[in-house]
Amino acid sequence: MHNNEVKAYIGIGSNLADPQQQVVDVLPHLNQIRETRLISHSSLYQSAAVSDIPQEDYINAIACLATRLQPMALLLELQSIEYAFYRQRSDDLKWAPRTMDLDIILFGNIQQKDSHLSIPHVEMQNRLFVLQPLQEVAGNIYIPGLGSLSYLIQQAPDLRINRLEFAKN
Ligand code: AMP
Repeated sequence: MHNNEVKAYIGIGSNLADPQQQVVDVLPHLNQIRETRLISHSSLYQSAAVSDIPQEDYINAIACLATRLQPMALLLELQSIEYAFYRQRSDDLKWAPRTMDLDIILFGNIQQKDSHLSIPHVEMQNRLFVLQPLQEVAGNIYIPGLGSLSYLIQQAPDLRINRLEFAKN
């Protein structure tokens, strides 16, 4: 880590238009964010969508970034990448399929909760498809306000997720 850099873990998800390819394709975009570099990323993980609407399985991964941006500035950069991937937002369909969803899961050791940003991500402890790839890239880290990652994995709802062995670079 260089001067003034903070480690941020980004959750990547897609379930539309060749999701595996979408997740692989977004990685260089993360590396091109200003004041930011991509340090590492997990394998890809496959899971069933949490939704009443029938849709394709999700592909998820975690990227580890080193950044000098503030959390809100990083969120805006992530949102512009989401739009570049033609994500279709719909207020009616909160759980509608999406081509690209980028969330800030952790940002250094900060805990923040306001109308734009909750860090650690509010749903992380309920999502094995976040916790498992996070453990792959970060090891058994301590999650601010929540406890150790291995404890959270033990406590997480038992959703089926499948690690795609071949997908890691
Ligand atoms: P979603 O549709 O699930 O991607 O949610 C998008 C909204 O969640 C954004 O407008 C953000 O302001 C808000 N949000 C709150 N916390 C986070 C976070 N940790 N990472 C990404 N978005 C967040």
